[in-house]
Amino acid sequence: MTDAIEPLFDQRAYRLTDKQAELCARTRELGQNVFAERAADWDREASFPVANYADLHRAGLLGICIPESYGGIGADYPTYMMAAAEIGRFCGATALTLNMHVSSCLWSGSLCDDLDLSDAERAQHAERRGIHYQRILDTGAIYSQPFSEGGAAAAGAAAFGTTAEKIDGGWRVNGKKIFASLAGHANYYGILCTDITESKPSRSNTLYLALPADAKGVTVTGDWDPLGMRGTVSRTLLFDNVEVPDDAELMPRGVYFKAASTWPHMFMTLTPTYVGLAQAAVDFCVRYLRGEMPGTPPVKRRMYPTKQIAVADMQIKLEQTKNLWFQAIMEAGPHPSPAQIRRAWAAQYTVMENANDIARLAIRTCGGQSMLKSLPLERIYRDSRCGALMLPWTAELCQDRLGRAMLYNPGETDD
Ligand SMILES: Cc1cc2nc3c(=O)[nH]c(=O)nc-3n(C[C@H](O)[C@H](O)[C@H](O)COP(=O)(O)OP(=O)(O)OC[C@H]3O[C@@H](n4cnc5c(N)ncnc54)[C@H](O)[C@@H]3O)c2cc1C
Repeated sequence: MTDAIEPLFDQRAYRLTDKQAELCARTRELGQNVFAERAADWDREASFPVANYADLHRAGLLGICIPESYGGIGADYPTYMMAAAEIGRFCGATALTLNMHVSSCLWSGSLCDDLDLSDAERAQHAERRGIHYQRILDTGAIYSQPFSEGGAAAAGAAAFGTTAEKIDGGWRVNGKKIFASLAGHANYYGILCTDITESKPSRSNTLYLALPADAKGVTVTGDWDPLGMRGTVSRTLLFDNVEVPDDAELMPRGVYFKAASTWPHMFMTLTPTYVGLAQAAVDFCVRYLRGEMPGTPPVKRRMYPTKQIAVADMQIKLEQTKNLWFQAIMEAGPHPSPAQIRRAWAAQYTVMENANDIARLAIRTCGGQSMLKSLPLERIYRDSRCGALMLPWTAELCQDRLGRAMLYNPGETDD
């Protein structure tokens, strides 16, 4: 066991609850003592961190956002976000894939509780989500979130091309998902698709369904050999007349669209991984320049003023990133004000861009020997490069939306 390190968010300074601090300690310890050592292998082989998931299940963390009334830990949104960021410090691929799994619980759980549902919808949803939660808690079932299709749908600009048609007692699904993290390893694929039973495709008819990975008609295809986040195994999924029962619904019919507009911070759940990576790059750089990095000669490089300035720059960027992010996750909830949504976009952009920029500075400052594959820095650099690409809130789209929201009132045009 290595010496304990400081938390990303100190309990006293950030006024965390005991539950928040305890959960962050639990994920940090697991990350530091177990995941860190394994991370290079998943990355080199582009293989899924299977052993980490067994540990997460044993630690109860697969149920981190399952409400306590169902037997889970019942972490709310900010608590989960901070706990997940601690994992991102040690294994980006585990933190990112865990996010896909946890989001299926968070969105169907506390987030759905905040939405305006009828009593009948709420009662039926309570029963259905219980089935999913039990699978996770009892057997360690893993859920993924393949939404992307390569078109405008994952950006929220068009209806999903993957379709669902109502059949007796369930749904028939057809379509394709690209970049499906956990492909071949999740037990259920939580897909977004368009309900085309009664009307032509529209975003308001988006349906959120969990397809069993072993259902007839589900195929994993293509290879996975990317720059970074290699352990996510984000291959392509094909659905050919896949039939699932009604209880495959992770949200009641028509509710996903309501959730996306009522609770927009739901799309920030991809960020904790990258907050963790940003901290990891700074931690690496400091230890390296102090001559304390295991696996490197104990040569100090901290006496050069240029290195001190670079470390100061990195720390300033990190503080800006962490603290804007902390504010945004703490104010997440239903019906945010326009200013809060703008801050969420700014926070998402800042995390995704700064994580990679901090890693870049760390490599430049530490030098050539620091980016050998025997050390984690080059992996942090590659993994952090992927954050800005995550739809629907890519760095570009955050800028687009923020700029437009600043210059136009809702509905305003130049005509
Ligand atoms: C490591 C990794 C893991 C991933 N895991 C998952 C996963 O588990 N589930 C999942 O659903 N997806 C996942 N993705 C996919 C990711 O969310 C994006 O969907 C994917 O990177 C988009 O591919 P693209 O950049 O080629 O798309 P393109 O559609 O070509 O978009 C390129 C860029 O153009 C901009 N753009 C796109 N659409 C619009 C628009 N309508 N208006 C203005 N600008 C636009 C965006 O900035 C986008 O980054 C993963 C991606 C990576 C890299």
